[in-house]
Amino acid sequence: MYNVTLLPGDGVGPELTSVVLEVLEAVGVPIRWEVKEAGMKSYEQVGEVLPQEVIDSIRKNKVALKGPLTTPVGTGFRSVNVALRKELDLYANVRPAKSLSDQGKYKNIDLIVVRENTEDLYAGIEHMVGDDAAESIKIITRRGSERIMRFAFQHAVEMGRNKVTAVHKANIMKCTDGLFLTVARDVAKEFPQVEFEDRIVDNMCMQLVMKPQEYDVLVMPNLYGDIVSDLCAGLIGGLGLAPGANIGQEAAIFEPVHGSAPKYAGENKVNPVAMLLSGVLMLRHLGEQEKADKIEGALKRVFTRGESLTYDLGGQATTTEMGRAVIEQLNYE
Ligand code: NAD
Repeated sequence: MYNVTLLPGDGVGPELTSVVLEVLEAVGVPIRWEVKEAGMKSYEQVGEVLPQEVIDSIRKNKVALKGPLTTPVGTGFRSVNVALRKELDLYANVRPAKSLSDQGKYKNIDLIVVRENTEDLYAGIEHMVGDDAAESIKIITRRGSERIMRFAFQHAVEMGRNKVTAVHKANIMKCTDGLFLTVARDVAKEFPQVEFEDRIVDNMCMQLVMKPQEYDVLVMPNLYGDIVSDLCAGLIGGLGLAPGANIGQEAAIFEPVHGSAPKYAGENKVNPVAMLLSGVLMLRHLGEQEKADKIEGALKRVFTRGESLTYDLGGQATTTEMGRAVIEQLNYE
């Protein structure tokens, strides 16, 4: 029996997480869920967007499945998602982008973007210089670069991947991205079984649009990771299909890349795939490879049949209908 913290989330979060729970139950993974609220709902109930008990629960269980959270608009609210990642030092953001069908613009995409989650321009150290200039400080450390590089290579080995590409702009930012690249080359020597190469970020974007099938695991600092992972989500059909994981030494949180889509809340309309694939990533993290494969197989068959797809995929199925179609397909292999 696994103990997992469940954050159903805001907006469309609860309807998406309940689909995942149904599928995980149908595939037969024994999980005891500890349900907690954060974000908007928690703010309305207890006046806090990130109560300490949420952090304590994730620390205790070490694994959480999370629906998207709404950050209330207004000053004084830092993003709950950023706060959670900081609090638990979830330094690796993993975003796989894998084709589920042959229908899109691109076929046979199978990429994993590993984004450094704690440094770079996202350290939030910026200020005005007088009235007419502003400065933001880009932080890259040897420690931060080493741990994300080791994570990327180890993840590549665990997932049976052959190549890691480090993405940077070291030709211009010789100190910061230069350090990142130097560390990348050093860490690559520890993993001779994995091919290593590097690409300048602008060239990387062009290559991904022109021949994405040539790439495998991509690792990069925070800002490039934010942008390139969205590009990769676009290659496989958009936000509704993009899962994610935030992983650190003491805990891991699995969540879709998309937000709480408040305008669709309660309509039973949006695509459950990104949330479901986040659950699949969680199963792989827990070592349940066979059950993870089973769900992915069922999902592929739902795409091939094409009858139970949500509106963003050109279909008319509801969120729950698409989830039930996956459950039905679990029995056909
Ligand atoms: P969003 O991702 O919620 O929605 C943007 C648009 O993308 C939606 O209107 C919808 O058209 C589409 N979309 C999103 N998810 C979809 C799905 N599963 N199926 C089909 N279409 C889907 O982004 P937003 O509107 O910028 O943000 C709304 C709220 O979500 C904000 O409060 C923001 O802070 C929060 N947010 C949370 C997270 C997170 O919890 N990790 C991530 C991003 C945004």
